[in-house]
Amino acid sequence: MKILVVSEDPEYFRSASALAQKLSDDVEGIHPSESSYVKKLYLPKLDGFWELSLVDVAFKINPNLVIAGGTKRDKTFAFSLAGKMKSSVASDVFDVRLDNDGLIVKRPVYSGVGIATIRLKLPSVITIQKNTLEPKTFNTLIEKVTLTNSNVILKERKAVQQTVSLDKAKIIVSVGRGMGSKENVKYAEELASVLKGAVGGSRPVTAEMGWLPEDRQIGLSGNKVKPQLYLALGISGQPQHIAGIRDSKIIVAVNKDKNAPISENCDYLVVGDAIEFCKIMTKRLSK
Ligand SMILES: Cc1cc2nc3c(=O)[nH]c(=O)nc-3n(C[C@H](O)[C@H](O)[C@H](O)COP(=O)(O)OP(=O)(O)OC[C@H]3O[C@@H](n4cnc5c(N)ncnc54)[C@H](O)[C@@H]3O)c2cc1C
Repeated sequence: MKILVVSEDPEYFRSASALAQKLSDDVEGIHPSESSYVKKLYLPKLDGFWELSLVDVAFKINPNLVIAGGTKRDKTFAFSLAGKMKSSVASDVFDVRLDNDGLIVKRPVYSGVGIATIRLKLPSVITIQKNTLEPKTFNTLIEKVTLTNSNVILKERKAVQQTVSLDKAKIIVSVGRGMGSKENVKYAEELASVLKGAVGGSRPVTAEMGWLPEDRQIGLSGNKVKPQLYLALGISGQPQHIAGIRDSKIIVAVNKDKNAPISENCDYLVVGDAIEFCKIMTKRLSK
């Protein structure tokens, strides 16, 4: 069985290679820098808009199974390839084994509350979660590949550079719709500044209303964070948000509704107005 491992990210590439090696000896890879985790490595330059042109390269390799990483661009590539291969698909897989006529994969469902065990027919394309497995190394044959740029740019937006990155932040002040307006987000930013923390937000305030840049979204379809302190201001605590903050050490929620769902998922609940809370805390901590 030929397995193709693909990711733009070194950690995902290592994780995918380790899973692939459990299933087959015939493992090839596509990755933008040299690696000895696969027997044959296709080495493209991944700049610009590479996802769709990489689909053509992978399709020609004709794998039975593609194990791709979990970055947004890895996923765009993977599911476009799945369409072209007319293969079965599964995302965010963390366990995979061979079955008589296909694969058995495990992936989270219901925002990580449950685990689904799914049987897939080959050919198949899966995206994975990172793991800590260490793959063996080979005397890898390397082939450089040149991509043709086949993507069409509809709209270009510059990524906003975060001052403190959410994945490394020890303290996160996170805002939800309960902050009331874009102007009020400054109170959370002032509090984050005295706490030397990062500012994040729920999906409505980032992806939908634009109170914060989209890359600050926390949750199932945004960043997964694990700070020492997560301060949830005016966030109701829907499962899709909780999925991204589950690994936080201490969660403090400020909500005017004592029965908001976040009350079930936080360590401390302050029942009150989030803006007043920010003003008072910023004043006290500034002293
Ligand atoms: C496929 C899918 C993926 C999703 N992914 C994500 C994701 O990654 N991240 C995410 O966040 N959501 C995600 N969502 C959306 C999610 O379901 C919720 O809609 C969202 O999290 C709610 O955001 P919120 O808590 O800011 O707003 P709301 O649910 O409107 O909650 C606002 C809260 O603020 C409180 N409040 C109001 N005024 C004040 C005040 N003055 N002071 C204090 N509290 C106040 C209210 O009591 C309420 O609890 C996803 C949904 C789907 C379907």
